[in-house]
Amino acid sequence: MKKRIAIIGAGIGGTSILRRLVEHEKFNTEYSVDIYDKEALLGRGFAFKHDSKHLLINTITKETSLKEDLNDYSKWLNSKGIEPSTHTSRDLFGEYVHHIFRDILSNHKNIHAFGDFVDDIIYDPQNTTYSLKSAGVTRTYDTVFFVPGTLEYSDPYDLKGTKNFIHNPYPVPVKLEDTKGTIGIIGSGLSSIDIIRYLVLEKDIKKLYVFSRHGELPAVRSGENDLELKYFIKENIEKYIKNDHISLGAVTRLFNKELRYQNIDTDLFGVEFSHPKDQIEFNIKNIEAVTKIELLILKTENLFTYIYMYLNQKDKTRYLKLYHPLIEQYHSPMPLHVAKGILEWTLEGRLIFVDEMDSVETDNKFIIKTQDGETYEVDKLINATGPTQNIKEDSRPIFKNLLNRMLITDSEFGGIPVSRNFEIISPRHGVLPHFYAIGEIARGTMYRGDGVAILVHKSKEIITHFYETE
Ligand SMILES: Cc1cc2nc3c(=O)[nH]c(=O)nc-3n(C[C@H](O)[C@H](O)[C@H](O)COP(=O)(O)OP(=O)(O)OC[C@H]3O[C@@H](n4cnc5c(N)ncnc54)[C@H](O)[C@@H]3O)c2cc1C
Repeated sequence: MKKRIAIIGAGIGGTSILRRLVEHEKFNTEYSVDIYDKEALLGRGFAFKHDSKHLLINTITKETSLKEDLNDYSKWLNSKGIEPSTHTSRDLFGEYVHHIFRDILSNHKNIHAFGDFVDDIIYDPQNTTYSLKSAGVTRTYDTVFFVPGTLEYSDPYDLKGTKNFIHNPYPVPVKLEDTKGTIGIIGSGLSSIDIIRYLVLEKDIKKLYVFSRHGELPAVRSGENDLELKYFIKENIEKYIKNDHISLGAVTRLFNKELRYQNIDTDLFGVEFSHPKDQIEFNIKNIEAVTKIELLILKTENLFTYIYMYLNQKDKTRYLKLYHPLIEQYHSPMPLHVAKGILEWTLEGRLIFVDEMDSVETDNKFIIKTQDGETYEVDKLINATGPTQNIKEDSRPIFKNLLNRMLITDSEFGGIPVSRNFEIISPRHGVLPHFYAIGEIARGTMYRGDGVAILVHKSKEIITHFYETE
């Protein structure tokens, strides 16, 4: 019996694992569960920690919940006397998750939260146990759920440590407190939108440079219309799995059939824009068709993580070329009112988008050069390029130690390899029994590890496997 359980990381993934564990019919007082994270992140995680109210969750409130009941978050908001707006702040969603987390803790004496990171894990193959080191104390477990979320922020221009360079911009009220001088942001994804909104709405910044390689913004989402899948569904996909493998050709045929059935305008895929303002205007003009694509991506993303596990290496690479750009473009759209704000500030000349960014030099200021040879100077540079996917670039002790002990290795597709049951595949010991990994860290196998809906869903599969095999 695998009664001693540790959960490393208490964000959406860790809290979902905890909830699934205790809600299972087999859970009883013989189990003991320890969950670890930094004190302030327990039951919130990185994305939903205390931060500015201008940082919005990118899914619609009615579609966002930690439970099967998609209205659970809306009900919680109502119970607090808060009118559920279409998109709430991430801070508020964090409050909701934290409330669930605290409830679980107060209802179970056999669950303990530790407000520290785990720095190392020693595996005993004889007894299949795992000894975790945290804050100088070692505790031994039979089962470990490793849910550390996204890796550290990437640093594509090697600027970490440079004065006035903000490597990780969160929480924004702390990191962006001082806004003297000219400000530039690197990146044009959702983090960049967070920063732009905070600096314009909260700090009233009048001029802001946004540098990026391709100048592409997230798509725009308008409504709550629903979409029911007919062909691209798990039952049909399963029919194509032969000898533990699915061919990408079969997936593509089924996906195209669904596109035709849903009357999706495929001309919208891969349209290139010469300026981000053109992209927003195009999205607003075609908002119904664009929203339909986003709904399709939203409904199919879980299935794509399933399919990905059955593709061979060659098809995985082809898949990343064929589907990944489409999913990336439409996976995390910004709300319509946010897009309209960005457009307005761009037309006013308050936001200056510069694409084809090539290099950054530092000389008291940051000198940014583009591939066209243009040069820009800013006093402060904020990194919004997002987290790295390479575990070797993460400087936290747990990654260094697990790599040194050959308990984990890096996957060519990002994160670490895990089995289809989400047990970690160690280069030294093979599949590590009951050492599960879920979330972005497992993206090499599950393709997408982030997103509330995916984590809520996958945590159920993992806990089912845990109880079936303990
Ligand atoms: C800025 C940002 C905004 C996002 N917005 C959205 C959104 O609007 N909607 C959406 O669906 N998704 C969003 N995401 C994706 C988001 O990451 C996931 O939805 C979800 O929060 C991930 O949950 P997680 O538990 O895997 O990771 P996290 O929430 O990051 O939690 C992982 C936790 O593990 C902890 N941890 C790491 N290492 C250790 C260790 N050694 N010991 C103990 N604890 C450790 C971390 O401190 C962290 O709290 C966003 C991500 C980011 C970065």
